[in-house]
Amino acid sequence: MSTQPPPTLLWIRKDFRLADNAALQAAIEAGAPVIPVFIRDPAEGGGWAPGAASRWWLHHALEHFATAWQERGGALVLRQGDSLSVLQDLIRETGAERVYWNRRYEPVADAADERIRQTLRQARIGVGAFNSSLLVEPHSVKTGSGNPYQVYTPFWRSVSQNAPSAPARLDLGALRFPPQFPPSDPLDALGLLPQKAWHLKLGSHWTPSEAAARQRLKAFAQDPINAYHEGRDRPDHDGTSCLSPHLHWGHLGPRQVMAAVHHYSDPQADGPATFIKEIYWREFAYHVLHHFPHTPDQPLRPQFADFPWVSDSDHLRRWQRGQTGYPIVDAGMRQLWATGWMHNRVRMITASVLVKHLLTPWTAGARWFWDTLVDADLASNTLGWQWSGGCGADAAPYFRIFNPVLQARKFDPEGAYIRRWVPELARLPNCYLHAPWEASPNVRQASGVHLDDNYPAPLIDLKEGRERALAALATLKG
Ligand code: FAD
Repeated sequence: MSTQPPPTLLWIRKDFRLADNAALQAAIEAGAPVIPVFIRDPAEGGGWAPGAASRWWLHHALEHFATAWQERGGALVLRQGDSLSVLQDLIRETGAERVYWNRRYEPVADAADERIRQTLRQARIGVGAFNSSLLVEPHSVKTGSGNPYQVYTPFWRSVSQNAPSAPARLDLGALRFPPQFPPSDPLDALGLLPQKAWHLKLGSHWTPSEAAARQRLKAFAQDPINAYHEGRDRPDHDGTSCLSPHLHWGHLGPRQVMAAVHHYSDPQADGPATFIKEIYWREFAYHVLHHFPHTPDQPLRPQFADFPWVSDSDHLRRWQRGQTGYPIVDAGMRQLWATGWMHNRVRMITASVLVKHLLTPWTAGARWFWDTLVDADLASNTLGWQWSGGCGADAAPYFRIFNPVLQARKFDPEGAYIRRWVPELARLPNCYLHAPWEASPNVRQASGVHLDDNYPAPLIDLKEGRERALAALATLKG
């Protein structure tokens, strides 16, 4: 007869780490054996089920995380189906008396978790829900008038007054497992890897594991962070942390990021201070998504509901493929396709050209990013796209229209980024690289650039596109 108490189910969702994991900490402290479980629920995410790049990441994150549990003498149980039914099955199979998880803040997931919590509680199962992924939970702050924030700076002023709490210290030595684990589905049965071989190249850019995330954080916080304020806008430099997928998937928590910044650098210095503000943009994105749950599909500013978008499927396709004829845009879209990631400055430029010069609905761009980004995150992607479209929280005013040529000349002055991703333009002199159509036919010929042959002419004249966007804006009421 077993003398062990009934086990605790640890429901893993976007928290693929053993360190600073509040639900795991509580499970260890409960003193019962722990059974970690991941459920692939086909209904998850509502209309925002994980895209292809996310599924690639998830597959490998599960693989690495299963190994981490095995190394500690445990096992990660994989199942598929309706989350509540699977949890109920596991409770029956194992006699578990508690289910612990870290909270999710996407509106559909949050509502599903609440329904599951209520049902389990009614069945006298102990439920523990914890915060492990945010510094500031969305419901915990409001403006002086009691409303949610819609502008970043006052949000930041308010939340940055309190120092973030330190990462949770887990006593992993006290972790206990049951003598036998319930059966697990094989990882491949979850069908996460996309059908097309497109995803194979992602593995040369990313390792979806806790160890890789911690290594990247340490390497960034030890040195590059000090030049972050100068380098973060330059796609031709490795000036940013590339931590976004690790934060999204919870290989790292933001408390660990803040602790590393304080440990390795001076948080008051320009680089680290600028970086910390970016970490809080992620917090702001979750705040906005929580309080305005319709924003993944609808503009926050209601007058944009009637905006006269032009849905040109050929323009959208050429933008997706990096064939717009604007070199910085094409470089960004090709970087995204090749690596599952794009530099923030270039995300802003590519998004602006799509929604302003091409008048394509921002939701079409958001969907493409959702499918192709390894850091696809409903809060940050929605905020980024509504910002670019001028229709969201703290958005760029619609009349401020990025000129992709001027942006490229400023942020990729030597053209290293464009040359890397659009090699057919590599031989153009710097002065024409950002706008090949401005070069004379002789210069283009000498550089091997043939417009509308081996590189497209621009989809629309930039001045014409800008005027068309301003005319569309003028139709908005209010
Ligand atoms: P760093 O510059 O090193 O910043 C550190 C961390 O701060 C990031 O990892 C991220 O977690 C957070 N952060 C930085 N900038 C922002 C921001 N503007 N909004 C929210 N969080 C931020 N970010 C995502 O994580 N997922 C997305 O799906 C996403 N979609 C975007 C779409 C558009 C149109 C735009 C303009 C931005 C989007 N961003 C998104 C925000 C930003 O581009 C990325 O977080 C950043 O490029 C990630 O690179 P990094 O980790 O090197 O960032």
